[in-house]
Formats: sequence, structure tokens, C-alpha cells
Amino acid sequence: MSPVIETDEQQALRSAVAALGKRYGRDYLTTVIAENRHPTELWAEAAKLGYLGVNLPEAYGGGGGGIAELSIVLEELGAAGCPLLMLVVSPAICGTVIARFGTEAQKRQWLPGLADGSRTMAFGITEPDAGSNSHRITTTARRDGADWVLTGRKVFISGVDIADETLIVGRTQDARTGKLKPCLFVVPRDTAGFGRRRIDMELSGAEKQFELTLDDVRLPADALVGDEDAGLLQLFAGLNPERVMTAAFAIGMGRYALSRAVEYARDRTVWKQPIGAHQAVAHPLAQAHIDLELARLMMQKAAFLYDSGDDVAAGEAANMAKYAAGEACVKAVDQAVHTLGGNGLTREFGLASLITAARVSRIAPVSREMILNYVSHQTLGLPKSY
Ligand SMILES: Cc1cc2nc3c(=O)[nH]c(=O)nc-3n(C[C@H](O)[C@H](O)[C@H](O)COP(=O)(O)OP(=O)(O)OC[C@H]3O[C@@H](n4cnc5c(N)ncnc54)[C@H](O)[C@@H]3O)c2cc1C
Repeated sequence: MSPVIETDEQQALRSAVAALGKRYGRDYLTTVIAENRHPTELWAEAAKLGYLGVNLPEAYGGGGGGIAELSIVLEELGAAGCPLLMLVVSPAICGTVIARFGTEAQKRQWLPGLADGSRTMAFGITEPDAGSNSHRITTTARRDGADWVLTGRKVFISGVDIADETLIVGRTQDARTGKLKPCLFVVPRDTAGFGRRRIDMELSGAEKQFELTLDDVRLPADALVGDEDAGLLQLFAGLNPERVMTAAFAIGMGRYALSRAVEYARDRTVWKQPIGAHQAVAHPLAQAHIDLELARLMMQKAAFLYDSGDDVAAGEAANMAKYAAGEACVKAVDQAVHTLGGNGLTREFGLASLITAARVSRIAPVSREMILNYVSHQTLGLPKSY
């Protein structure tokens, strides 16, 4: 790749992470999932090499890079078949929000652990009755003396069982209705009143999803990260990196599936030539490759804008990157499975489960339709239907 798009350091990071991914690979993750455990060995090794906190400030133990670097880490692990989903929430959302809006004490308390991977933080915004419309969330924080007391419900929150804390998005009692004025709270896993129930997902991933109940969860004053009146800016400081990282997750998965299909199409021969010589097999794979490359270009643009401090332009680009990557991933996986014929559906080749996994990047953290709505309204200036 041209250094115009990625610096020499970024390219070196890409190769180093790819080498780490290759040492673990799909077989490692398949075993971890089958044994119902977590990819702790890979997490620990990536942590030791400084990859998990590559985006966090050096003063707090991070690598001093940005979302551009962290997205490289996730994409390359994904392309090797062993993505670490918690990178999307722990260093990318929670780490960024705390680094940008936390007090000095909060930064010292949380960032070193997030940077060296010894601490993981989940992120909870989605609610059962709000879904895509975050303005309808009802998780409410009321003051009680110096404390905060949180009440509400969350759904589909990833990794709460392994995360030491979850960064919960709520609203204060004073701003209970109307346009969302979000405020964010760090909730330790074992806090009284903080309950979780695993959701039975048809997804084969190491990280599980949970429904959360917050039943009068009492938190100290310093659990609040940022200003209770800061509005959407500090929330999107975390959500835009999340979109870039979801794009990286999708591109990595698409690349992994595509590489398996190409390998297969080169060898598998049922007529005179390997099936990859038939253009009906080759062209869709070539298209999938082009779509993934284009999505990566938009992801790099979004990461660059975000890292240079242009939150508004980054928001638009991050949405488009997430959309493009999600679509490219779904198409690449579908085509890969098809290329393998019957083997596309065997456990031995392990591609079929990616069909479900690929759909996640179309739905979360913001669905394809909500991005199309965003571009219709914000970019094209078309009227709103809702
Ligand atoms: C595997 C997985 C992991 C997740 N992890 C997390 C996590 O860690 N933390 C977290 O907070 N959340 C998480 N989520 C939740 C995810 O962000 C939500 O599922 C997503 O935002 C969509 O919300 P919903 O499921 O309620 O769908 P809904 O909002 O109910 O939408 C259903 C359908 O209606 C469409 N739709 C809704 N409104 C409109 C409209 N105005 N115009 C057109 N179409 C519309 C949507 O596009 C979608 O197709 C996760 C989800 C999954 C599947």
C-alpha cells in the first residue's frame, strides 16, 4: 500500500499484527469458541506487544497513536481469522471517551489498565424500547447526596461478563425526556443492583451479549465521566471510533473469508481447469476484493479525520465507512461460502458461521438504514420521515 495513505510506521504495524494473527489464526478462535472460553492468550500477547492501547495517550501507558492505528490492529487480526471484538468497545470507545473527557484522576485510574489490556471495559447504550432511536433511552441517573443512583435496562451489550466495568449511557433526571443529553457512568461489574442475563444469540463468537438491569445502582460522584450537560459531543467522541472499528472488524472478516475462497478456487477442479478459472466464480471474488479495498479507503479517511480532531467530518466519514464495510463484508462472506460449494457449509471449512457473524456489521452499532437516513438528511439535505 502506498505510503501516501499509510505511513511507514502504520505499514510496519500492519505487518507485525498480521504476523501475530497468523500465529493464532482461525483454528485458535474456533477452539476458544468450542471450549466456551475467551481468547485470553491472544489478548495477553497483543497487550504485551502494545497493540491494545495503541490509540491511547502515552502519558497513561498507551502507544500515542490514534484510531487509525487501532483499526489496523483489529483489521489484521480479523483478516487472520481471530478478531478481538472487545477492541471496539474497551480501548476505542471507553478509552477514547475517558482520555478526552475524563478528569485527571479518572484518566489515571482507568487508562493504564485499558492501555495494557489488564482491564476491559464494556459499553452500554442500546435499550430494548429505544433501539436505533437513542433519543428514547430511559436509563436515568438521579443524585442522592454526593452519589448517583442509576435505574434502567440495556440490551445486546457485549462482553459484560469479562469486562471489569461497563460504561453506561444514561440521562439525568432533569433531562429525562426530549432530545438526548447523554451522561456516561463507569459501573463496576459487581456493583449491587447491576444484573445481567446472557442473551442466547445464534452467533459463534467468543464475546457474548447480555441484557442488563440497573436497579438503583449506587455510584460515587466520580463515576460520571465528562460533563452531565456536555450533550452529544462527548458521546460521539466514543461512537465515531466505534464505527471506524466496526468497519475494521467487517473488512478483516471479509478479507479472511475471501482469502479462504481464493485458496479453494485455485485448487478445486471439477472440469479441466480449477473453478477459479471460470469467470462466474472469479469475478464476484474480484468484486468482493474491490469493495473491501474501497471500504478500507473510507475507513482510513474517517480515522484520519477523527485523529486530526475534525469530529464533524469524521462523523460523516465514519458512518459511510461502517456502511461500506458492512455491505462489503456480507457480500464477501456470501460469495466465499458459495465458492466452496458444499464445503462452504461444513464445519471443517468453518465459513458458514461467518454468514451470521457478517450480519452484525450491518446491524450494529448503527444499522444500514440509519446510516442511509443520516446521509439522506445530513449530507444530501433531504427531509426526514420520522
Ligand atoms: C452482536 C451484537 C453486539 C452488540 N453489542 C452492543 C454493545 O456492546 N453495546 C451496545 O450498546 N449495543 C450493542 N449492540 C446493539 C446494536 O447496536 C443494536 O442492535 C442496533 O443499534 C440496532 O438496534 P435494535 O436491535 O434495537 O434494532 P431496531 O432499532 O429495532 O431496528 C430494527 C430494524 O428497523 C430498522 N429501522 C429502525 N428505524 C428505522 C428508520 N427510521 N428508518 C429505516 N429503518 C429503520 C433498522 O435499520 C433495523 O433493520 C449489539 C448488537 C449485536 C447484534
